[in-house]
Amino acid sequence: RWAPILGAGTRDTAGATIFDSILDGKIPADVVYEDELVLAFRDIAPVAPTHVLLIPKRRDGLTQLQRATAEHKHVLGHMLAVAVPAIVAKDGLDSYRLVVNDGAQACQSVFHLHMHIIGGKALTWPPG
Ligand code: ADP
Repeated sequence: RWAPILGAGTRDTAGATIFDSILDGKIPADVVYEDELVLAFRDIAPVAPTHVLLIPKRRDGLTQLQRATAEHKHVLGHMLAVAVPAIVAKDGLDSYRLVVNDGAQACQSVFHLHMHIIGGKALTWPPG
């Protein structure tokens, strides 16, 4: 079922990404939160003092948010209601931005669903 590791930027829904290598422990990550469903680690190219990526451990077809189905309600709710608050509290943030880039034209480059948690400085708006 699984294709060979194809790497970041690959849009093959069956292909592993660099995040699978992090999950497998094959490449290191600065993990800030982990539970049975999700892993969160600091972005390698942070845009703010806090820049954490939160991912489901099981990709389960969730290469991007627009592929979500009712089967993903539990993990998506867990990310928003359990993991994000824990990560935000850990870094002591009272303001932050939660970003999902959904699709190449929205600058998604890793096709394993992930949420960016960005904060720790005054952020600007709008993004472009
Ligand atoms: P973009 O690459 O345009 O930010 P994404 O929303 O797909 O698009 O985000 C992927 C994120 O993964 C990027 O912010 C990138 O810096 C980060 N990233 C890539 N490789 C690693 C890695 N090995 N460890 C931590 N973060 C990584």
